[in-house]
Amino acid sequence: MTLPLELLEILVCPKCRGPLLPRGAAPEALECAACRLSYPVRDGIPILIVDDALPIG
Ligand SMILES: [Zn+2]
Repeated sequence: MTLPLELLEILVCPKCRGPLLPRGAAPEALECAACRLSYPVRDGIPILIVDDALPIG
C-alpha cells in the first residue's frame, strides 16, 4: 500500500507543524528534519504521535 501524494502534502509534524519527509518507497516512515524524529507508517497509516516517534540516528 502506498500513500497518496495528496495525503503526504497535508501531513505535518504533530510537534512542530513542520513538513514531513517520506523515507522509503512505501514510505516506511515520515521524518521531521527539524525535530529529528521519524514517525512510523504502519499498514499504510502514518502514526503521527510524538511518543511513538523514533529519533533519527
Ligand atoms: Zn517536527
